[in-house]
Parts: sequence; C-alpha cells; structure tokens
Amino acid sequence: MLRLRPLLCQSWRRGFKTFPCAAVEVKNEPILGFEEGSPERAELLKALEDLKGKTEEIPCVVGDEHVWTKDIRYQLCPFNHSHKVAKFCYADKELLNKAILASVAARREWDMRPVQDRAQIFFKAADVISGPKRAEILAKTMIGQGKTVVQAEIDAAPELIDFFRFNAKHAIELEGTQPLDTPGVTNTALYRGLEGFVAAVSPFNFTAIGGNLAGTPAIMGNVVLWKPSDTAMSASYAVYKVLRDCGLPPNIIQFVPADGPVFGDTVTASKDLAGINFTGSVPTFKRLWKQVAQNLDIYKNFPRVGGECGGKNFHFVHSSADIESVVMGTIRSAFEYGGQKCSACSRLYVPDSKWPQIKEQLLAIHRQIKVGDPVEDFSTFFSAVIDDKSFARIKKYLDHAKSSPNLTVIAGGNCDDKKGYFVEPTIIESKDPQDPIMCEEIFGPVLSVYVYPEKNYKEVLHLIDNTSPYALTGAVFSQDQTVIDEAAKTLRNAAGNYYVNDKSTGSVVAQQPFGGARASGTNDKPGGPHYVLRWTSPQMVKQTHVPLTEWKYPYMG
Ligand code: NAD
Repeated sequence: MLRLRPLLCQSWRRGFKTFPCAAVEVKNEPILGFEEGSPERAELLKALEDLKGKTEEIPCVVGDEHVWTKDIRYQLCPFNHSHKVAKFCYADKELLNKAILASVAARREWDMRPVQDRAQIFFKAADVISGPKRAEILAKTMIGQGKTVVQAEIDAAPELIDFFRFNAKHAIELEGTQPLDTPGVTNTALYRGLEGFVAAVSPFNFTAIGGNLAGTPAIMGNVVLWKPSDTAMSASYAVYKVLRDCGLPPNIIQFVPADGPVFGDTVTASKDLAGINFTGSVPTFKRLWKQVAQNLDIYKNFPRVGGECGGKNFHFVHSSADIESVVMGTIRSAFEYGGQKCSACSRLYVPDSKWPQIKEQLLAIHRQIKVGDPVEDFSTFFSAVIDDKSFARIKKYLDHAKSSPNLTVIAGGNCDDKKGYFVEPTIIESKDPQDPIMCEEIFGPVLSVYVYPEKNYKEVLHLIDNTSPYALTGAVFSQDQTVIDEAAKTLRNAAGNYYVNDKSTGSVVAQQPFGGARASGTNDKPGGPHYVLRWTSPQMVKQTHVPLTEWKYPYMG
C-alpha cells in the first residue's frame, strides 16, 4: 500500500515564537481501482465477508470509559434493513454534561502541546487508514451507508486521509504566519484553541466529513464532543478508534451518539460552548444557530458556528456544449450514491435544440443502470437510500411528479422498501421551472429537467440564479468562451463550487475545497488552507526588550 509520509523539518523557538519549517509536503491520496485480481479488492472482499450478518456493539465513549445507557438504537443496512449493522446507545443529557466537563478539564494541556505533536497523531491516523484499516472502514461505509466500492473508496479513504493530512499541514504552516518584529520588539502570534469545547455534528452521507468535523478542531488544540449520525455509526466509530489507537488522548474527542435535539439542546445550554462544527440539513443548522443566539448571554465566548448544508445543484447546458460530457457528467452527478451527495446535480437546464439528443442518450444509459446490493454485485451503480425517512420523503416527490400536470416522469419513478429502501433512478421533465421539484433539495436519485428555448439562454442563467435558496454547486457546459464568461458573471453567487464542462460533484481536498453560501452554509471550505483559522483564537504577544524610561512624549516639551 502506498504511503505518503509528510516531510517535517524541525521547528525552532525564539522567545515566545515557534518557527516551524516553511512548508509541510503532503500529496492527495491516490484512489485505488479495485479491479479483479487486485490486492485491494481481495482485502475488501475479506472485510465485507467478516462483517456479513454481524451486529457491531458501539458504546458512547466519555473519557476512557465505554458507557451504555438504556436508550438502545440500531443502525440498519439500507439495502437490507433486516440486517442490524450496529447496536449503539444514545447519550442522555447527564452523560453529555459529564463529557463536557471532562473535555473542558482536558483542554489546557492539549492546547499547550506543540501543534507538531498534535498533527503527528493525524498524520499517523491517515497512514493507518491508507494502509491496514482501509478495507475495514470501506466495508463499514458500504454496508452501513449503502455505498458502492468506488463511492466508499473516494469518501472513506482518500477524502478522509486528505482531510487529516492537509489540515495537519495547514495547522503547522499557520504557526509560521507571524507578525513583523521591530528593533527591540518581538511580536508573536500564538494560535490557541478556542476556550471551551467544540460540538461536532456530522451527517450520514460521508464518513470523511465526520472525521474532519471532529478532527480539525482537535488538530488546532480544541476539545470536541462528536455526535455522529445514527446512520453512519459503524464507520464513524471505526474512524474514532483509529484516532485513539494513533495516540489521541481520552477527552480530546469524545464519541457521543445522541438524539439530535437532546444533543443540540444540551451543548447549546453550556456556558463553555466555544463552537459548533456542523454538516447536515438547513433546518437542523438553523435550529442550532437560533439556540446559540437565544443563549448568547450565558456563554463565556461568542461560539463559532460553522455549518455546511444542502444544495439544489444545477447543470446548465448551452447549445454549444459537448453532448457526451453533458450526458456522462449528469448521469454520474445525479445518480451516484443515489443522489445523496450534497453536490449531486438535481436540476438540468437544456436548450430545446439539443434535448432530443440528450434525452435519448440519458434514457439509453438509464436502461443500463443497476440499482441493488453493492456488496453482492459490484456492477451495481447505486444502492438503496439511507433510511425509511429518506425513502418516504423521496416517495412524496415521486407522487407529486406523477400527479402534477406540469411534470412528466420520463424514466423511473418507482420505489420499493420491502427489503431495502430502493428508489429507481428517476428523470422528470418539468414545464414549470419554479415547480418545487426544481427548487427543493430532494436528496435522492431524482433529476428534474427544464427544456428552454435555445435563444433564451441569458434569461435561463438568471432563472438558475433565482430558483432555489441554495448556492452549493453548479456546472456550465459550453464550448463558447463568451458564454462561459457570461455565465460566470451571472452565476457568481449561485454556487460555492462552480464547474465548467465538468459535473457538479467530485471535489477533492486541497484541489477544490468545498462549500457554498446562501442557504448552503457558512462556506468555510474544509480542505482549504483557511479552514483551520475557524478553529483557533490567536493571541498576539508583544515583548519589548528595551526598558521604557520616559512617560512624557517629546512634543510635550
Ligand atoms: P440532518 O440535518 O438530518 O442530520 C445531520 C446531523 O444533525 C445528524 O447527526 C443528526 O442526528 C443531527 N441532528 C438532528 N437534529 C439535531 C439537533 N436539533 N441538534 C443537533 N444535532 C441534530 O442531515 P443528514 O440527513 O444527516 O445529511 C444530509 C444533509 O446534509 C443534506 O441536506 C446534505 O445536502 C447536507 N450535506 C451537506 C454537505 C456540505 O458540505 N455542504 C455535505 C454533506 C451533507
């Protein structure tokens, strides 16, 4: 297995100042292919076999203690809900408060440790996930979250590994960003963790995101309560255990599965809340932010609130577009992982002149897409959606599509939850560009298409900008540079991750740091160099080496 060891040089100190080496060299983790006969495929098959039919027991971990409360829950396999993947329990308010106290008590010592020491734990964890633990974490992501091999790989291996390595690199390099000294004066920036604890709340759909939400504040010297998603429990716990095995002390990240509102109510009621690092839906994020606002008077600090939320991501097709790129990119973006990526394309705008050709090609591929069990059959393109709630929500949109005079289901449209939460890949043509199906996040394998008169493309760009409250990702397909430039201007605020002649999904850590504005979140760009700044409270220290000998100013005579 390939290892990418970061090149670390020795840091040096002068007074308060620590000068790390100028740059820490890390590279993106390569994506493995899992072809027939490859060693990674053999390891993955073995890990999948080891988990077959098993139910893992996952406690809350507070300090070094494994705690079981009476509130027992189960994570079900999305494509075979009779399989209980994990048994876990919800931390109650009392246990959460205990975790808060323990983390705040551990904070100072952790924060005082040199950033290089903290970073080493994450570099080591990245190596372990790249090597011996890769197959296990992938298998848990496949079975627990219903991902195919490639979707599990890009998430739970390279993305997670890159988050750990690049954020550790950025944390070390940040220490090298120091203010100017003047004769007789040394100025130093100390990058302190936030005073209090950070609540990390993660979504179901990316194993990597949980690791990042909890991990990056910890690299920066913070203590964290990590509430993983119920439906990503098994893979999240595996990541947590790797961090502990790699030297993360107890109380720095505490693993506390909990009922969402109980967790939210408890952390926002603590005077020590220093930050919330959230990824998930808009309603949950708004609820947390409002609670923070309501409780402002009780906090020691103004909590940092970061949230990456949903999207209603677009593909705009101009008449000059390369049709094959449009079709292949749209199929992948809309249907990979059953449309359960925050960046998934769910609205497609096509000129009338090109629609017959694009439609024909989309339908031809649609007939070949296999939806099923991604473990038993590696040719499955995507699997079941995550759970019964998600299934019911998507079904409502399908029912709406079937009954609305503005909408025509041109492919798919059915679902079946007898064995797993299966939804067919669905393509819907909409006569109304403002129909809810064109504006609201569905988070399932549903693609809505609006066909526009070719000559009206400028109006359509404005329409795209104004159709939904989100601004996460979007793509423009055109071979005409004037159109590309025009679209970039009109859509400047319509997406935080904007693609030209490429699909709206697939951002890579450090290459396309991810996030959007408007209702899509605070756009902090995890994976980019600025992200670590969110989780530090710098202190500026001025040390004067020349005694002060006068109280009067010269002009005073
Ligand atoms: P969700 O909002 O249902 O849940 C997210 C997390 O919040 C879960 O851990 C959940 O248990 C917790 N939660 C629920 N209520 C809570 C409360 N009152 N207080 C505290 N925590 C609470 O979202 P989800 O279904 O897990 O994830 C899907 C959503 O996440 C989609 O909207 C998707 O677009 C978004 N997402 C965005 C990004 C991004 O980077 N922008 C990435 C992944 C997912």
